Amino acid sequence: MLLLVPALTWAQSMPLPIGQTPALPGPYMEYWEDSGGGADITDVRALPDSAWQAVARRDASFGYSGNSYWLRLDVNNPHKRSLGWVLLIGNPLLDQLDAYGLDGTRIYRAGDQRPFDWRWVEHRQLVLPLHVEPGEQQRIWLRMQTDGSANLSASLMTREAFDHQEQRSLLLQGLFFGALLAMLIYSLSIFCITRDRNYLWYSLFVASFGLYQFIQLGFALQWLWPNALAWHQLSFPFSSALATLCGIHFTYGVLELGQAARPYRWSVNALKAGAWLVLGMALFGPYAPALIGSFVLVAACALAAFVITLLRWRGGYPAARLFALGWFVLIAASLASILTGTGLLPYSQLTQHAQQIGGLIEMTVFSIALASRIRLIQDAERQAQAKLIEQERRLRNEQTKHLELQTQISDSLEQRVQERTSTLQDTLQQLSKANMRLAELNRRDGLTGLFNRQTLSEELTRACARAERSRQSLAVLMLDLDHFKQVNDRYGHLAGDACLRHAAQRIQQRLRSSDLLARFGGEEFVALLDSTDLTGALDLAEQLREDLARNPCPYQQQSIALSLSIGLHAGVPSDPGCAEHWLELADRALYRAKAGGRNRVVSYEARAFNDA
Ligand code: GH3
Ligand code: MG
Ligand code: MG
Repeated sequence: MLLLVPALTWAQSMPLPIGQTPALPGPYMEYWEDSGGGADITDVRALPDSAWQAVARRDASFGYSGNSYWLRLDVNNPHKRSLGWVLLIGNPLLDQLDAYGLDGTRIYRAGDQRPFDWRWVEHRQLVLPLHVEPGEQQRIWLRMQTDGSANLSASLMTREAFDHQEQRSLLLQGLFFGALLAMLIYSLSIFCITRDRNYLWYSLFVASFGLYQFIQLGFALQWLWPNALAWHQLSFPFSSALATLCGIHFTYGVLELGQAARPYRWSVNALKAGAWLVLGMALFGPYAPALIGSFVLVAACALAAFVITLLRWRGGYPAARLFALGWFVLIAASLASILTGTGLLPYSQLTQHAQQIGGLIEMTVFSIALASRIRLIQDAERQAQAKLIEQERRLRNEQTKHLELQTQISDSLEQRVQERTSTLQDTLQQLSKANMRLAELNRRDGLTGLFNRQTLSEELTRACARAERSRQSLAVLMLDLDHFKQVNDRYGHLAGDACLRHAAQRIQQRLRSSDLLARFGGEEFVALLDSTDLTGALDLAEQLREDLARNPCPYQQQSIALSLSIGLHAGVPSDPGCAEHWLELADRALYRAKAGGRNRVVSYEARAFNDA
């Protein structure tokens, strides 16, 4: 029996691994739950074996109870030499983790509620170096207490394997955060360019999600706030709730829920209120409820976002398809992460990083969706622009047409005005010609074409004034056809008219161009002779009388004899208004010529020049 005891103990001891593959110590571990939390290592060492229970799983995971758990693990070195080993506690959010028996008397105290520089190895996770001589067996005691997920995530490996794994892990984490940073810069730039608030919310979402992951993976405590333990505790639910709030805002904007039916807005507002509540709890309230609240919020929001996105998609909003895919991935990843935390899902590289992988996929999908949104907006803008250009083109065409029409109108108007003007000018010219003709006609006698009595009186007045001024002689002859009544009586009035024209023509022929002949009355004429003295006047009068006496008027194969009696007056007028008087004197001379027997010339000065 005594010989068997070490063999039994040996059976529960974990052989330390060799090579690159880490070993999971879960199946070799036993645990004791310290509900009071007051036990120390001495108390625990004294516990009977029956108090201990086998973990019996790949990993020690006890959910969110907040209790202290003691774990013991026996390891042995079955190899020929001593390698450096590392016990890696992969959950950096454990509040307290104490280890005993690793290295003689030294006690390892770490956890995210202990200052970072207490750690033996500067690492975001809890790294416990292990030294076991060949063939030696060693018992390790661990005490774990946390208000968060009491999940040890332990693995055992050689120092070499740890270094190797660490390099790969850091590369992957760098890629992950690098991708997030790239997406953040990308969406922030798009926000700066487009001023579309959705991109701002998306940027905040990416930033807060990145911060959440940075905290969860232990980087934040290592690099950002190694001594701010209280804040570190709160920062985890706080960043989670912040990411959720930004996600809600982003989803609200991008699915245009502001214009959707009321139930959408109500549920979104309820989720927003929840997010604010969790934020408040994270900052001021107890840690554990805030943590649970943040998980519940994430689950609720992811589910609501998924359902809402599906409904929007069915409601004819095509951009929702990609969002639905993104949310589905995040829900699955978050569920996996939470289930791993509660121990329902086995711990593995995949489940541990589920949220990271899911988040990365989700954000990539969202980025694509946002980019496609840009394309939609661009297409709409392009269409609007094309429409504007078309409108402008049409307007320009119309303008050109208008201009052409205007030019045509003004051209034809100008032409018409020109036509009218020239017509008007013609008419005016004709009118003035007609007026001149009319004025001339007005001055003439209709039957003989000689000047009429009116013209005679005007010209005589002028001639008198002129002669008086120039001291020149002026002669006035008054000529009357003898017995003309008898001509009319004998040959008729038409013959009489012909005789009047004949006499007028004959007299006119003998006058100078400067002389003036007018028809004074029925068969009486007056001749006005400029610069003609009495002798000249008598001479001319005699010629006129003789000429008519010798040339009878031819009328319808007949020859009508005519004779003239002429009375005249000549001299230099002493008074410019002598016209009336001179006419009267010539008339008196004519009277005497008639009385003297007719067919003769008599001047007022001489009684008779010649007797016929
Ligand atoms: P005397 O020798 O005394 O002048 O006699 P007379 O017949 O010529 O003169 P009188 O004064 O008695 O008559 C003038 C006539 O002239 C009367 C009229 O019939 C005629 N007479 C006047 N004007 C015209 C006219 O325009 N045409 C014609 N055919 N006859 C006219
Ligand atoms: Mg007469
Ligand atoms: Mg007469």
